[in-house]
Amino acid sequence: MSEKPKIGLYWCASCGGCEESVVDLAEDILGVVEAVDIVFWPVAMDFKRADVEAMEDGSITATLINGAVRTSEQEEMVRLLRRKSAVVIAYGSCAHLGGIPGLANQFDREQILRYVYEEAPTVSNEAGTRPSTEHRFNGDRATLPSFHHAVRALDQVIDVDYYIPGCAPTPKLLKQAVEALLTGALPPKGSVIAPDIALCEECPRKDSKPEDLHIERFHRPHAVMADPDTCLLAQGIVCMGPATRGGCEALCIKGNMPCTGCFGPTSRVRDQGAKILSSVAASIDAEEEADIIATLETIPDPIGTFYRYGLPGSFLRKSLSQSS
Ligand code: SF4
Ligand code: SF4
Repeated sequence: MSEKPKIGLYWCASCGGCEESVVDLAEDILGVVEAVDIVFWPVAMDFKRADVEAMEDGSITATLINGAVRTSEQEEMVRLLRRKSAVVIAYGSCAHLGGIPGLANQFDREQILRYVYEEAPTVSNEAGTRPSTEHRFNGDRATLPSFHHAVRALDQVIDVDYYIPGCAPTPKLLKQAVEALLTGALPPKGSVIAPDIALCEECPRKDSKPEDLHIERFHRPHAVMADPDTCLLAQGIVCMGPATRGGCEALCIKGNMPCTGCFGPTSRVRDQGAKILSSVAASIDAEEEADIIATLETIPDPIGTFYRYGLPGSFLRKSLSQSS
């Protein structure tokens, strides 16, 4: 019988980029495949839920789950995988923090369904038909998962052992995590497997970031030609670097784009959006309330800007009209 560690991979509410990032291991993937037995990876191999149900509890060495939890099927699967796995790793921003799907928590379920099936300009649905969780036809029964009221990060549903951050995580971090699993050199439970420093500390532009910023208006990155050598925040472009964990080696900054915060906060920051909001507010070069408001209004989508990846786990969490 094989003695190799057994690895599972699963996705919930996500775009698929995290699954793709496993392939980004490139030739290193061959070493991983050699060293482990992949016992569940529905996106790439033909495994069924029944295969997992038949496994002994705790028999999977580690399961990497990407994506947030939005539907009943996702919740059932992550609970099942938790039971079958010795270690569960939240892989990527959506499992770690709720991610982009978590921005839907600004709206309640009814608002979302009404817009998607009735009000969206591209929809033609005069009968107002919505998907139902059960349908019977000619004696057959078809079912669909139910749509929960809110999006949750993985640790809001099950116990999570480790987190690998990023949208998507970098191959370097995934490789580090796999090596830690294979050698047993795992960090303390609950660790985020990435450096616990702010992104600004590893940013090639950090020396151009002034101690005190004086911002009169904010610019959207596509609307200006940013100087490629100067701190983006100093140029009035919202950059989440001060409130975001390092470890990506400033990927977006090197592409002359601001950090949008996908690695989440460091351990010293409780709420990533609140942290950057307070630092941005303190940088506004205005005294009068009207001038401060006018400057803030140059940020067109504050929740999408400050909570792009972390709304479900933030202090704001979800719209008050959501019931669960
Ligand atoms: S705010 Fe952004 S651009 Fe400026 S130093 Fe920090 S990460 Fe770099
Ligand atoms: S710069 Fe920010 S948004 Fe870009 S990969 Fe790094 S942490 Fe994510």
